Amino acid sequence: MTGIWTRCNNCRRILYKQDILDNLFICPECNFHFRLSAIDRLNMLFDLGQYELVDQNIYPQDPLKFEDSKPYAARLKENREKTGLPDAVLNAVGTMDGIRVVISAMEFAFMGGSMGSVVGEKITRAFERALAEKIPAVVISSSGGARMQEGVLSLMQLMKTSAAIANLENAGIPYISVLTDPTTGGVTASFAMLGDINIAEPNSLIGFAGPRVIEQTIKEKLPKGFQLSEFLLEHGMLDDVVERRDLRSYIINALRLFLNQPPPQ
Ligand SMILES: [Zn+2]
Repeated sequence: MTGIWTRCNNCRRILYKQDILDNLFICPECNFHFRLSAIDRLNMLFDLGQYELVDQNIYPQDPLKFEDSKPYAARLKENREKTGLPDAVLNAVGTMDGIRVVISAMEFAFMGGSMGSVVGEKITRAFERALAEKIPAVVISSSGGARMQEGVLSLMQLMKTSAAIANLENAGIPYISVLTDPTTGGVTASFAMLGDINIAEPNSLIGFAGPRVIEQTIKEKLPKGFQLSEFLLEHGMLDDVVERRDLRSYIINALRLFLNQPPPQ
């Protein structure tokens, strides 16, 4: 968002930008949740907004020398410059109400949060860190799915991340998945739906294929609200829909429950 004023994507009202910033990027008029950057997510979730970034300096390769409307290498460079990030996810460790956790937060502004080898590797490393340190893992998803420019190397990440979660599960270490707008494709088909609890922000698009592709395939109109978090909750695909302003306290309560660790008196 640039300038002092902005328009809400949902209610179309003109809003003073500072009002949105002060309100966790939620429209004060209609409760629309704007997309957050990975950094904003981490700042919002950790105690006092303090954390240590880990698993930095992992950069994608371009083994296919892939080129669509422009070369993959050029696209990567452009997205790095735009976001200041090496790829579409950040891993961080810190505490939430004193509980040490590792959080992976995806960055949608980096190539639509697409999952290539780096995103898969970093998410896997977050789970491995959780296992080694015996601390809970939280992943905040925001992704268009697998990164086609890396071909099968992207698809491999579905298995790799899922296997790492299985190890966590066997060790009895909690993993909370938070799905935000949008979470689709290979990310929904792997780690985003494999949490001990899977929760989502309101009105988030969550699915595998997009609604247009499904309509074209089945040649039927889809019900209203199809693939939005509230619809998915109603149909048993999610455990809860949580407002952004309650997200931190919700995760802390869930972690205390999983860890059997009542809040300090
Ligand atoms: Zn609005």
